Amino acid sequence: MNADVGLLDKLFKRETARLRANGVCDVCNDDFDPAAGYFLPTRTVVIAEGFWAQNFSLTKNMAEILQADDDDGEPTWMLEHTLRQMAGQSSAWAVCESCSEYFVFDRDVARADALAGRQPSNGGAVDPSGCVLFAALGWQRVFGDWPSNVAWVEVVDTCDLCEKAIHDSELSAFITTERMREMRAENLIDTDPVRPFRRHDDGEGYVQCQPCLARTVARAYRRGGRDGERPGA
Ligand SMILES: [Zn+2]
Ligand SMILES: [Zn+2]
Repeated sequence: MNADVGLLDKLFKRETARLRANGVCDVCNDDFDPAAGYFLPTRTVVIAEGFWAQNFSLTKNMAEILQADDDDGEPTWMLEHTLRQMAGQSSAWAVCESCSEYFVFDRDVARADALAGRQPSNGGAVDPSGCVLFAALGWQRVFGDWPSNVAWVEVVDTCDLCEKAIHDSELSAFITTERMREMRAENLIDTDPVRPFRRHDDGEGYVQCQPCLARTVARAYRRGGRDGERPGA
């Protein structure tokens, strides 16, 4: 029994090493180095607008070529196809440091999984209906219009940093005025808020959309700052 487990372990390690050696980032196709990257579960990847925008911008030209000549509408079939394909990914996504700025996740766990070649504990395929909003947001960024085959989702707020519309059920975060000042000083945020602070249960401050939040947290983590949630930093 022990011998079999040992053999499997050896084979697995060899397979992992091979995958790593040939590894590319599953988001941008650049080289993937596990020591400077992350393994993310599908559920984390598909709720990031930036990921979808990146994906559609890579396939936009191809979609326009494949579109029938007599069909001058947007290639919304591509959205449906991509949505099913991405949500259906059962194994980990290898994500490079640069692309990690699209996502909000526990970086220590995701780095450890990448280094070990281990599947994330909350991995597996997800229901496309749970991420269609984020695909639509990425689509809108690339093609300019809300996709006609996705039900409109109400706008409930706008980001105080980039003025992006924040739709119902999109992630956003509140930063106090004091913390905003510190983050500006540390260059974790490199633009001034577009409007004066607002009042909130947690004090006075600003609302950040998911793309802005993900970028800020990624930068903080690289510097070992407290918003990066690196234990002991
Ligand atoms: Zn990448
Ligand atoms: Zn924003």
